[in-house]
Amino acid sequence: MRKSHRTASTELLGKGLVTRRAFLKAIGSTALLPILPRRLSACTNFRRRRLSDATWPSQSAWKRLDDAVGGNLIPVNFPLSLLKTDPAGAAAKRLSENLRNPYYIGDQPGLTQTLGWIDAWATKPSIYAVAARNAHDIAEAVNFARENDLRLVVRGGGHSYQGTSNAPDSLLIWTRHMNDIAMHTAFVPQGCERTLRSQPAVTLGAGAIWMQAYDAVTTKGGKYVQGGGCTTVGVAGLIQSGGFGSFSKHYGLAAGGLLEAEVVTADGKIRVANAFTNPDLFWALKGGGGGSYGVVSKVTLRIHDLPEFFGVANFTIKAASDDAYRRLIRKFVSFYREHLFNDHWGEQAHVNPDNSFVISMLAHGLDTDQVKEVWQPFLDWVAHSPDAYSLQGRVVLGSVPSRNWWDVQWWKAHWPELPFPNPNGSRLVAAFDDVLDYLVKQPIFVIDDRPGAGPNDAWWKGDGGQVGWFIYGYESVWLPAAVLENDAQQRLADALFASSRHSGVELHFNKGLAGAPPDALAGANDTAMNPAVLTAFALAIAGNAQGPAYPGIPGYEPSVAAGRKAAKCVDRCMSELRGLVPYPGSYVSESNYFENGWQHSYWGSNYPRLAEIKRKYDPDGLFFVHNGVGSEQWSADGFTKL
Ligand SMILES: Cc1cc2nc3c(=O)[nH]c(=O)nc-3n(C[C@H](O)[C@H](O)[C@H](O)COP(=O)(O)OP(=O)(O)OC[C@H]3O[C@@H](n4cnc5c(N)ncnc54)[C@H](O)[C@@H]3O)c2cc1C
Repeated sequence: MRKSHRTASTELLGKGLVTRRAFLKAIGSTALLPILPRRLSACTNFRRRRLSDATWPSQSAWKRLDDAVGGNLIPVNFPLSLLKTDPAGAAAKRLSENLRNPYYIGDQPGLTQTLGWIDAWATKPSIYAVAARNAHDIAEAVNFARENDLRLVVRGGGHSYQGTSNAPDSLLIWTRHMNDIAMHTAFVPQGCERTLRSQPAVTLGAGAIWMQAYDAVTTKGGKYVQGGGCTTVGVAGLIQSGGFGSFSKHYGLAAGGLLEAEVVTADGKIRVANAFTNPDLFWALKGGGGGSYGVVSKVTLRIHDLPEFFGVANFTIKAASDDAYRRLIRKFVSFYREHLFNDHWGEQAHVNPDNSFVISMLAHGLDTDQVKEVWQPFLDWVAHSPDAYSLQGRVVLGSVPSRNWWDVQWWKAHWPELPFPNPNGSRLVAAFDDVLDYLVKQPIFVIDDRPGAGPNDAWWKGDGGQVGWFIYGYESVWLPAAVLENDAQQRLADALFASSRHSGVELHFNKGLAGAPPDALAGANDTAMNPAVLTAFALAIAGNAQGPAYPGIPGYEPSVAAGRKAAKCVDRCMSELRGLVPYPGSYVSESNYFENGWQHSYWGSNYPRLAEIKRKYDPDGLFFVHNGVGSEQWSADGFTKL
């Protein structure tokens, strides 16, 4: 049975993994005094204002805010209303198509990438948004919200599964247009001139999305920055989650590469946070969860050299019986431990209820021959039992030049025509397809084809299914590397098989850092993320959703009955895996809305320190997000102080 947060963290304290006294001593207890005087909202029964309240700010007050932000205060509309009011019109038709386009959704202050979650939330537009241009605009919005007791919301890429970047009756700070990017050959964080060496870095506006970062740093700059796998996720949101990309097994967490942030805190001050200046805030921003400590206006991240190649392993094996499937999973577990458990290999293996096993993995720094060599023994083993296993589709093993990885024009130049027919039929295991032959001839990026879109505005086809999602159920758990030990492998394989009877489960190897180089582990260790990430070989994820969907819109209604049923299956699936782990931890950004003991799940022994830093920088709880640090003190909607 899972332990409550209170029990688990008390045990951690008891074990000496964290002590409040040690922490206070280490940083000096006066540093924890709140930076703001206590205000009304410190009292119980405090309630933020809603549009329907007589005390809602007057038009002249809003006008003053609009003037202060250079005319960038905008009323927020809800684009989906059109599907109700004029469902047959041309605009509604265009909207339906665009609901599959993450760039379109990102451009709407009234929409979010995930549209909701059964029995949890459905996206709601704010009343007004400040389309911020810089930290000063943000500071004006923060001051206005604080002084007028408003519910404040911050949105970057809008990808929160938990609905933490939308709220009705709120003021939105929308960073979409703050996407300036500057490369540095020798960056030193402010105030660290005497203590830190300069290093190559990139400064990104908080509203930039990862595709913009990769375009500047890799395609144009020939370097690497650790960001997210999904190209349309926001930079600031991902960093504050901790953040994983496909090659995190080599480079570590995105937050581990943070050198400096500019952030507007609840008192409206524009602060610099780095290892020397406001180090406690700096640490909390590295994985303490988005929207809880202030509004980040820009971040500076370490950049790295590129390897020559990024590689791909893609294939699906179908087992003829449950028994054969069990043996396949068991074989993969030992094969993973022996050949793939290192900093070369990230991304996913899927264990499915229909006894199919999908490999969708990416490699750092291996050429095509090396990739094939790694997988040959496993494929030989599969080929040895043709009655038990068949390959579905093609086996894709190989590498492409790393600099072209996010180079949309390079990929496009190789696509002869669109849509390229999908290859059919099984191939002999031994007949590998050259990866260039396969990958470049089918569109693996989907391109934003709206008029005025940038030439590199594109998203991985594999992420497209999640655009406009309404979630049924979604859960994750870090799997410790200890379960890869010889005597535990059978238990892991059995649990994977058992979990797959309820729902498909994905193992994301790049989201557990066991096996990463010391440098990557040291960076991650100096973040607020649950330390479980350091010793996990993978994050297991199960999820189910429908999309695009939204309640109350004919033709788009999410199925509540199907959703509740699916959520139960997801939960049973993950329970089988949680049973392997004494204190299960979950990734804050990819986890259950209804997570039990979320403080421990997301942050483990780091939670008490995070809570102290929250009290220091935001004592009145201006920044509230669902299951965020300090949110226990608020009603579920973030309007009423408990
Ligand atoms: C399709 C999809 C793919 C994903 N892929 C990955 C992946 O590959 N790796 C991974 O690690 N995660 C992934 N995630 C999870 C994602 O990283 C997190 O949800 C992340 O927080 C999203 O950031 P955002 O800016 O896009 O979203 P938003 O919803 O805008 O923001 C997320 C949270 O951060 C806050 N926030 C945003 N900007 C700021 C700011 N400037 N200052 C302060 N707070 C801010 C918001 O208030 C909100 O609470 C994925 C999610 C989706 C939907």
